[in-house]
Amino acid sequence: MFFSFDGIDGTGKSTQMDLFAQFLRDGGHDVLTCRDPGGTMLGERLREILLHKAEIPLGGRAEMLLYMASRAQLVEEVIQPALRQEREVVCDRFLLANVVYQGHAGGLQVSELWQVGRVATGGTQPDLTFVLDMPVDAAAQRITGQLDRMESRGLDYMDRVRRGFLAEAARRDDVVVIDADREIAEIHDQIRTIVQARWPQAFATEVQEDRR
Ligand code: ADP
Repeated sequence: MFFSFDGIDGTGKSTQMDLFAQFLRDGGHDVLTCRDPGGTMLGERLREILLHKAEIPLGGRAEMLLYMASRAQLVEEVIQPALRQEREVVCDRFLLANVVYQGHAGGLQVSELWQVGRVATGGTQPDLTFVLDMPVDAAAQRITGQLDRMESRGLDYMDRVRRGFLAEAARRDDVVVIDADREIAEIHDQIRTIVQARWPQAFATEVQEDRR
């Protein structure tokens, strides 16, 4: 199974991903975690350019294609081999983020992004994406340290990103919105419950015996 976590920065993606991966491991699953962009030698180089080399000018289309290139390599080198070995894959962001940041918020055509995304990934998509959602100003307050290329685009841009995530979630049943403005444990419980309800046999907490 392939899961991804998404949402604007500061909403708690990394925190919830770690808890979710641990929950899966406690249930006896073999888990691979990764991040997009990144996760491969090529992807980490591209991530550096995409997020941290603000001095390198990057037009919207070139930016989109570099994200796609990173993702293509991640799918081929990391995600597909793991899925073939029946491991659980948990990824920090995926194609949806590209659609929302460069499309909904960045002005590129959303339908084109999905199309290019399909080419880049060969159709590999998360079985379920959790979009962590909260007001952008509250999320920004959680971020410490230097802002990256995306984070430095300001609260208006982030608000378009947030609304993009909500719009995509409203029309896709493989994307669920989670209220991220709550206690960490409460959010984790909800995520676990959703996965257990969708795939009760694979992710039951307790091994049930004497079911015959
Ligand atoms: P993201 O990966 O989405 O940027 P992080 O998981 O790195 O978010 O969390 C950003 C900051 O907010 C961290 O300092 C983290 O400890 C804190 N944090 C995460 N979830 C919550 C929460 N539910 N309530 C309060 N603080 C949180």
